[in-house]
Amino acid sequence: MVDLKGQYSKIKGEIDAAVLEVLESAAFINGPAVSRFQASLEAYLGVGHVIPCANGTDALQIAMMALGLEPGDEVIVPSFTFLATAEVIALLRLTPVMVAVDAETFLMTPEIFERAITPRTKAVVPVHLFGQSCDMQPILDIADRHDIAVIEDAAQSIGADYIFPDGSRRKTGAIGHIGCTSFFPSKNLGCYGDGGAIFTNDAELAAKMRSIANHGQSQRYYHERVGVNSRLDSIQAAILDIKLRHLDEYCDARRDVADAYDAAFSDIKELASPRRAGHSTHVFHQYTLRVLDGRRDQLRDHLASLEVPAMIYYPVPLQQQKAFQGFVPAGLELPVADRLCTEVISLPIHTEMDAATLDTIIDAVRSFF
Ligand SMILES: *Cc1c(COP(=O)(O)O)cnc(C)c1O
Repeated sequence: MVDLKGQYSKIKGEIDAAVLEVLESAAFINGPAVSRFQASLEAYLGVGHVIPCANGTDALQIAMMALGLEPGDEVIVPSFTFLATAEVIALLRLTPVMVAVDAETFLMTPEIFERAITPRTKAVVPVHLFGQSCDMQPILDIADRHDIAVIEDAAQSIGADYIFPDGSRRKTGAIGHIGCTSFFPSKNLGCYGDGGAIFTNDAELAAKMRSIANHGQSQRYYHERVGVNSRLDSIQAAILDIKLRHLDEYCDARRDVADAYDAAFSDIKELASPRRAGHSTHVFHQYTLRVLDGRRDQLRDHLASLEVPAMIYYPVPLQQQKAFQGFVPAGLELPVADRLCTEVISLPIHTEMDAATLDTIIDAVRSFF
């Protein structure tokens, strides 16, 4: 699905030198590489504060902890996402309120969000799924009217721009009250292990989240609150600082692959290509087709028989997960999410795709129909 070895081989000189520098400095935790990467990412995103942490799930958890929510407070999340988005809500004894997504963009829309609001709603998590932004301006307006915190899950969308109705742009993750991302190796900005980060323009929230990520300390050995231990290590930060310089080319390379797939499948009526929302650029963390004739699993088997990788993101919506049954209200029906889980299939997409491989994948898909 990705070619991490190929990508590494192109930047090996830079990466190896940066990793060696950390090894020789022995500043493995909170070394200068971490503050350097933090500053680079703040500049790239145009955001006031980046708080590096251990992974994307921790980023979401620390964000939720910083909002001072009470058990039973409701947090709205799309039902078609990676489970981590909602897991941290449940872990903190908050109530995940699972909502529908749009069938063509896979995103929670402002209308869907608004319909789910109750007097207990305290936060919403727009997930910029597969690499394009939710429609943030109306989401922010609705949230503002109801005093709801907006935590963007930008784990799949780093580098994507939201385009405001007035035409101005801002990077996803830097738009809501808090943004969260993951540097898992296969993410668009991936490190060589685990990593994550939290973004905000609110200095007070930033200080609180920095403290929560560091055992609730304000100064060393003075703990103001119960926190967690969540750090990005210096080696990963050094790697990320180099890869960040390549992120825009990486996004372009992924878009080129997506354009080629779009063109190659446009005449297959049983296949729906991913719809690009007008309010966002798309960085194609995944290229996800919908198989409209009920033969998704057969297509997957056909591709497997030709040794073409394909993945189902996601096979089960949140409301059908065993772990979440305690949070499913009686009569909850999310038919679009249920259906998407039977229709979607994601093809390989990455920064190192060559023309021959692309042709092989396209031919394999076409030969099925
Ligand atoms: C990857 C991912 C996460 C979690 O990130 P980790 O670094 O693996 O903890 C959260 N949300 C979404 C949408 C993701 O894709």
